Amino acid sequence: MNSALQKYVDSIPEVGDAAGLRETFWLNGKMVPEAEQNVTLVWPEQIEDAGRRLERFAPYLEEVFPELKETGGIIESELREISGMKDFLNTNYSSGIEGRLMLKMDSHLPISGSVKARGGIYEVLKHAEDLALEAGMLKETDNYRILAEDRFLEFFGKHTVQVGSTGNLGMSIGIMSAKLGFRVIVHMSADAKQWKKDLLRSRGVEVIEYADDYCAAVEQGRKNSDGDPMSYFVDDENSRNLFLGYSVAGERLKAQLEQQNILVDEEHPLFVYIPCGIGGAPGGVTYGIKQIYGDHVHCFFTEPVHACCMLLGMATGLQDQVSVKDFGIDGHTDADGLAVGRPSAFVGRVVEPMLSGIATIEDRKLYDLMRGLLDKEDIFIEPSSCASFGALIRPEGMKRYIDKMGLSHKMKNATHIAWATGGNMVPEETRKAYLKMGL
Ligand SMILES: *Cc1c(COP(=O)(O)O)cnc(C)c1O
Repeated sequence: MNSALQKYVDSIPEVGDAAGLRETFWLNGKMVPEAEQNVTLVWPEQIEDAGRRLERFAPYLEEVFPELKETGGIIESELREISGMKDFLNTNYSSGIEGRLMLKMDSHLPISGSVKARGGIYEVLKHAEDLALEAGMLKETDNYRILAEDRFLEFFGKHTVQVGSTGNLGMSIGIMSAKLGFRVIVHMSADAKQWKKDLLRSRGVEVIEYADDYCAAVEQGRKNSDGDPMSYFVDDENSRNLFLGYSVAGERLKAQLEQQNILVDEEHPLFVYIPCGIGGAPGGVTYGIKQIYGDHVHCFFTEPVHACCMLLGMATGLQDQVSVKDFGIDGHTDADGLAVGRPSAFVGRVVEPMLSGIATIEDRKLYDLMRGLLDKEDIFIEPSSCASFGALIRPEGMKRYIDKMGLSHKMKNATHIAWATGGNMVPEETRKAYLKMGL
């Protein structure tokens, strides 16, 4: 490690823990009250615009994906109370959770079974709309059901969409793009699971495999795409569109909480816990929720001990200028959706004034949490997704935060939401293998 980085390791205890491959819980000292948050990289009107775009596409989505009939073409997941899991965490991890524990089940989102069905699908739809509008084939006032017609399949078929992925992003981009008629190329990193590659190929997606990590797959994908004027690259490292697709979750969550008569206000704090890879999904969701609940919501990310890139980027302030490898961390984790070595610079800067903190979690605990959730709630989620409980199993870290914010007397009124980010597409044999891991 170079001496400039060694300085951070020596002076910031959480960075020292991270470099030493120990679990840690970093509280964001740069978080400020809502009134002082001056985010200039994205703005709230853009979320509304994204929400309206998804509504325009709803008739088309309903037409081409039978599983969206029930919701009229809106891709959304259930918000479910999991009191059995709360007991499990309090008993097995001394979590001391007060209030209500809920699961936001993006693990069961229609079409691609992960949180990427928010950002990934949104970005493909936005690109398709841009192309069709520009070609004069579509007006915003049209019923978008026409996009299922052959002339659009033919039109989109002249265009290529490419993306680098550890798996789930490729699934969302791949499935949606192929449905619209695009040629799709997904550049998969070494961490990607075989079944995800197989599934994509079965839908007509070209999958290129790399022996290297996520950044290398993205790099190659970008290069490939830039060389082809008919190709569009979904850039997970910088994309505003992905981010905005995720941020629509805020409005949707508000409606669900209201429907279930769950209060969020000064006396009823909301805590949201989201697994983090490159940062786009948790960052976008956080930004969307913060627009709605401001200082009454407290958002935490969780990363694997071996892929804690956002923690390193934010705690050092170096953002995407550092990777886990710079700190001697290998980047290998069973949590394939989180196996990212360098954070998005864009996301780190957007969430800097509003993120509460970041916890890290050892891989073996993911499996224990997975079994706990299945046992108590009969819900299966994938390893990456189980990181959503990573902060809750660290009572000393949570207590530090609660004390810092003066929230202890309000915690009995709190609602905790673990954001389950993936799982329902995992094949049966893989589930069985996961459930035996770390025993
Ligand atoms: C991608 C992913 C995440 C994290 O999203 P990022 O945008 O990479 O931070 C979390 N969980 C699962 C299951 C994912 O696939």
